[in-house]
Amino acid sequence: MEKRPFAELGVSQEILKAVHKLGYEEASPIQTAVIPAAMAGRDVVGQSATGSGKTAAFAIPAIEMAKAQVHKVQVLILCPTRELAVQVAEETGKLLLFKRGLHVVPIYGGQSYDRQFRALESGVQIVIGTPGRVMDHMERGTLKLDGLRMVVLDEADRMLDMGFRDDIEHILSRVPPERQLLFFSATMPRAIQDLIGRYSRDPAWVKIESHAHNAPQVDQVYYEVDRRSKLEVLTRLIDINDFRYGLIFCSTKIMVDELDQQLHARGYATDRLHGDLSQMQRTRVMEKFRKRAFEFLVATDVAARGLDVDDLEVVFNFDLPNDAEDYTHRIGRTARAGKSGRAVTFVSGRELYRLQSMVRFANLKIRRETAPSLVQVDEARANLFFEKVRGVIDAGKFERQDRVVDRLLEEGYSSTDICSALIQLLKGGSPPGPPPGPAPASPERKAPAERKAPAKEPAAEDPEPEERSEPEPPPTRRTGREAGMTTLFMNAGRKHLVTTGEIVGKITGVTRLTAEVVGAIDIHQRHSLVDVAEEHAELIARKLSGIRIRGHSLKLSLATTDEKALD
Ligand code: ADP
Ligand code: MG
Repeated sequence: MEKRPFAELGVSQEILKAVHKLGYEEASPIQTAVIPAAMAGRDVVGQSATGSGKTAAFAIPAIEMAKAQVHKVQVLILCPTRELAVQVAEETGKLLLFKRGLHVVPIYGGQSYDRQFRALESGVQIVIGTPGRVMDHMERGTLKLDGLRMVVLDEADRMLDMGFRDDIEHILSRVPPERQLLFFSATMPRAIQDLIGRYSRDPAWVKIESHAHNAPQVDQVYYEVDRRSKLEVLTRLIDINDFRYGLIFCSTKIMVDELDQQLHARGYATDRLHGDLSQMQRTRVMEKFRKRAFEFLVATDVAARGLDVDDLEVVFNFDLPNDAEDYTHRIGRTARAGKSGRAVTFVSGRELYRLQSMVRFANLKIRRETAPSLVQVDEARANLFFEKVRGVIDAGKFERQDRVVDRLLEEGYSSTDICSALIQLLKGGSPPGPPPGPAPASPERKAPAERKAPAKEPAAEDPEPEERSEPEPPPTRRTGREAGMTTLFMNAGRKHLVTTGEIVGKITGVTRLTAEVVGAIDIHQRHSLVDVAEEHAELIARKLSGIRIRGHSLKLSLATTDEKALD
């Protein structure tokens, strides 16, 4: 069963305004099927999973048929519990916001009769209640049903389970015969079918299959992230999982452009797709993406709609999609053909409520995780490296270097020392290993000598450099900022083969300042954080920006707190 825009269901302007205000973009399948049938005056039996939007499916036709100028109860909605009655009353209240003169009241056990009398006396048109309390009011004469034109049974199966069968029959047998009857239930046991057979006339049966199993292979997680930290968390997740092929969704074209640029500046191979690009540009981008000419495509929903790529490792919802349908659509692009994939969603602030409503609405299986810290990123990288080395050894894909190794062994070095030293050389910057200790910045790393590195453009699929031409000074781990220092963000990291020595060398060489102006340096996979003397920070950033290191154009700027704060 498909979904349609509310505007195509023949509902009033007031309802359109209300659903818009609620943020509903389209009617859900059950709404698409039920609303027109009920508005045409038919009895309806609706069966669909929890969270599929049944409330609005009956509340909208109820609101549309109720007459505001008639001060009598025209719609009676029965719910199994007071919580549900209140919830349904709330949603109905929101849907009739723009209908002048229409009112709704919940009546349920536990609330004072007094308050309910007054509400009922004031001439409300829609009453929502539990069967027991509704019966009470009918018997006391405080709820008059002579003007009743529609009865709704919400969660009929539960009401029967709770022993309300007699109450329900009692109520149904005492309402005017010309009323419309809407039945909603997640299941259709015999007892419900009996009731339907006895009290409704030629109902329209609507059964919506659950779509919860649409994407069972997709591992879905979400992160609560401050808006300004999204970029940092995104890059950490990419690094930690070593993702190489994925889609990143943003909600607007501007966001797409911005994120594409930011990722690019941090050394990721990205491109973008949105409605402002010409058809030719779009085709080209998609072709390149399919051929994996770059790693991440940043896109809007609209642009990605016709995109037929499979086998994505990951889909990021950098911005929360509008509704559950878009969500399912987006994440369905990963884990095709029986493979498993990942879907990562960021929510910030109030978006959490929207996500929760989508989870309920579409029965999403999504779990919460916390953003990885820098230490975790380092550890994950170390693991990756380990796997890589193991892979090379297992596959025997290396040239033997027995002579060098033997010589070192003969000189008395242990094999672990030799390997550790080699790994150190390979990694250039911070080695994999334990989290940074409290050691102060060591002076050696400030050696200003500019190093000649091989003029090798690092290949995108090969972020770990295979060889280095020269030994490095021992890398220094970031230890927190010294007084008078500020942190610069530099768009080059291990992937670009930069080293601490080289960074210090560039800074002193270009600015003619001494090495004293440089503090702790923290080299990441695709960017680095460089502490420099506050008073020279601006000059250093300006002078170094634009300089090329092995074909990569440097860009430096004052690091935002988010770039530093997430440790
Ligand atoms: P059900 O009664 O079928 O279990 P609800 O009516 O309680 O489902 O709806 C579940 C959630 O989905 C609610 O938070 C509701 O606001 C939301 N919802 C309902 N209709 C739509 C729609 N057309 N688009 C987006 N969200 C919707
Ligand atoms: Mg419901």
